[in-house]
Amino acid sequence: MTFKDLNLSTPLLNALDDLGYTQPTTIQHKIYSVILSGRDVCGIAQTGTGKTLAYLLPCLRLWKFSKDKFPQILIIVPTRELVKQVAEEIAKLTTYMNVVTVGVYGGVNMKPQALEVENGCDIVVATPGRLLDLVLNGSLKLKAIKQLIIDEVDEMFNLGFRTQINNVLDRLPPKRQNLLFSATITDEVVVLMNTHFSEPERVEAAPTGTPLENIDQSMYEVPNFYTKVNLLKLLLTEDETMTKVLIFAATKHMADDLHHELEEHFPDRGGVIHSNKAQNHRFNTINRFRDNTYRFIIATDLVARGIDISEVTHVINFDVPEEPEAYIHRIGRTGRADKKGISLTFVTEREKELLAAIEALMNYKVPVLPLPEHLTISDVLTEDEKPKVRMKETLIVLPKVSESKGAFHEKLEKNKKTNIKISHKDKMKAKYGKPKTRGAKKK
Ligand code: AMP
Repeated sequence: MTFKDLNLSTPLLNALDDLGYTQPTTIQHKIYSVILSGRDVCGIAQTGTGKTLAYLLPCLRLWKFSKDKFPQILIIVPTRELVKQVAEEIAKLTTYMNVVTVGVYGGVNMKPQALEVENGCDIVVATPGRLLDLVLNGSLKLKAIKQLIIDEVDEMFNLGFRTQINNVLDRLPPKRQNLLFSATITDEVVVLMNTHFSEPERVEAAPTGTPLENIDQSMYEVPNFYTKVNLLKLLLTEDETMTKVLIFAATKHMADDLHHELEEHFPDRGGVIHSNKAQNHRFNTINRFRDNTYRFIIATDLVARGIDISEVTHVINFDVPEEPEAYIHRIGRTGRADKKGISLTFVTEREKELLAAIEALMNYKVPVLPLPEHLTISDVLTEDEKPKVRMKETLIVLPKVSESKGAFHEKLEKNKKTNIKISHKDKMKAKYGKPKTRGAKKK
């Protein structure tokens, strides 16, 4: 099966030719005729399966030139990076078409974006919050939308965009085609479809939780953070096949700490991205990684979501993510579109439970690699790793220093009592002067 076997237009075929893409991926092939038929679609696909082109190709095939200023296609994605990426993908596919695309996202001045949409466009790619703002201030009119695509819906809900999405959906013309993509179909996704979609056809690229076959997964059992740092340094120093490495860290703090540690050994060879970094910094870092100025980047789950960077040779999970699905998303950054990729996970004793949940989800046991012999095992512990004495959560009120009488002082009078067991008989004797009986026993 080649792209020529699909009923694509010549401009699209030429663009695909320029890109060097000849064969549709599974989801592209499966979904094409369903979208062309005009039905609503629920696509279950992770990033890396080619799902962006899977919805773009049929949508662009159906698109007709209009003199109208109002957009016909609306694509909602969870992050700013994805807006840029999808818009770039559209630009590549429409080299031979007259399509105007505008990408809008929050965190930057709204005015230029408002002007762009007011000037007229055919496709809008947007994050939910900024999209709603532009609709509410009247810059963006949704009355001509024929196709709505919501990508990475599960992530959108994770980020708390439920209200914005529902608000936008309520403002769309009722006669439209809805396409939804999600790696996992949660209850919330089902509710969204039941409320706004019309009998969507389910198309699956790979069953939820199935790791992409072209990823070689393995793990190292490592005792603590600093040994993980040593291991990472060692691997980056010795393994020359690690040319494009995406490192995941659980928190912004951990990502920054790790970047600091690596910067000493590999100055200017890597960057860090997380949600506290300015948008420009994030774009620049990703671009440097794309064009191989950087050999590695350290990222948190949120910003790395959906980022498409081709030829990532290794994904390193510096920590084990708490959500098993996040693991699947992380490793999906490597081995993209039929390329072989490698994922390595660093697991401490404490994280083994999380890994077990991931293995259960994937129904796959991640093989353990032996630690390199010359790895320095650190015994330095981070604050988080230091053993903590767990105390019952009761509030102990300590005397003020001035009132304190030191550790050794006389007991207060009321505390001097000792527990002396007094029998009932003795108590009665003390009270009545003589033993109280119920009368003489009958003989
Ligand atoms: P996605 O899953 O949409 O993020 O796509 C992953 C990567 O695969 C992107 O870099 C696409 O440009 C690339 N890609 C998509 N479809 C194909 C295809 N049919 N052949 C080769 N590469 C593709």
